[in-house]
Amino acid sequence: MLPDCDKDNIHTTIASLCLKHFHSLPKSGKPQENEWTVLSCIVKEQQNVFQVVALGTGTKCVGKNKLCPNGTILNDSHAEVICRRAFLFYLCNELKKDSSIFNLKGSSKFILKSNIKFHFFTTHVPCGDAAIFPKQSGEEFGDIVSFETIIADDVPAKKRKVDIDEDIYRTGAKCLSNSIKQDLKEKGERYHILGVVRIKPGRGDPTVSVSCSDKISKWSHMGIQGALLMTFIENPIYLSTFTIVQNTPFCKEALKRALYGRLVNLNLKLPFGENCMCIKQVDVSFAYCKTNEKQPCPSSIYWFSNGKRSCLEVSVNGKKQGVTKKHLHTEKARVKICKLEFFNMFVKKLDEYGIKLYENIENKELSYKTAKESCKDYKLNWDSLKQSFGSWTLKNDLLLNFKLEKYT
Ligand SMILES: [Zn+2]
Repeated sequence: MLPDCDKDNIHTTIASLCLKHFHSLPKSGKPQENEWTVLSCIVKEQQNVFQVVALGTGTKCVGKNKLCPNGTILNDSHAEVICRRAFLFYLCNELKKDSSIFNLKGSSKFILKSNIKFHFFTTHVPCGDAAIFPKQSGEEFGDIVSFETIIADDVPAKKRKVDIDEDIYRTGAKCLSNSIKQDLKEKGERYHILGVVRIKPGRGDPTVSVSCSDKISKWSHMGIQGALLMTFIENPIYLSTFTIVQNTPFCKEALKRALYGRLVNLNLKLPFGENCMCIKQVDVSFAYCKTNEKQPCPSSIYWFSNGKRSCLEVSVNGKKQGVTKKHLHTEKARVKICKLEFFNMFVKKLDEYGIKLYENIENKELSYKTAKESCKDYKLNWDSLKQSFGSWTLKNDLLLNFKLEKYT
């Protein structure tokens, strides 16, 4: 159900809190003067007390030739995705008896306390579908994607010239090549089609990761906790609000469409379903927002709360920053929030609670993919949701076949 958004004055509180938190972190991994980045945070609300519990920054995504089959490299380092990965660790750490956010039901199921909400904050409109909307003259934000990318990849520059009043913001995020729906690439508003799954933009080696709009839309239907944690968590966890800063192009209708409202013929079974978020742009600015003069910051910061402690790390190209060349392909280059480390943490949790995902095989011998498929309800609904999206990914399933035993 849609909360009463008009009465909701919490967006400014959330934005200020997130920016304050970002500024309190060490300099390492933050943009230089001539660089921009995106900052995303997840904020916990409990009885009117707000707290940042996960944070991510970043603008990069590795190309398809550098995808990692071992789960040890971060393929997608866009801020929204980094923040969500950090949030998964926060959630997993909270799966305990004296959790501040969960009540334990029975021996190993957790229910989110009724007074807990989670909010999403970001400093740039998510890439993909949310970034496509009419351009109004007089705005000075720079393009959502640089013109050169579109010109080089798609159409001659001459064809692109249209009056700004009838033009739309364009995205370098292309429709999936296996989708029957493709951009028309015609003049003005007919350049893009709306509501389809797109691949993250990138220069050189193309990416195969779906856009942040698509990933957030998945979270709005399947929950932000993902498949593995559904083993422990009774109901999917949904985001209540979405707050975005002032100095980025913004269109509420486009965000509503892209982040939760674009699918028809949904066939999801409870507890899964379409969950709306209150979306609001606030009168607060981010110092490192994108402009045409700045370069994207190559590094990503992630941070998450872990009780009284917290965890912070900086990555570059999906690996830990500052690792010497000699160790670039070793365990020392692995960031703590990579898939393999998460899988490792998850399997330890299973053992702690005496859960065996499949009767005839030890948890640690499972592949990541097989473990993800063990939550049948999640899988059935996710398969159904993918059908509603039309097509979802170009990624090869083999990338999820890694196992723990081989690496630890
Ligand atoms: Zn993105």
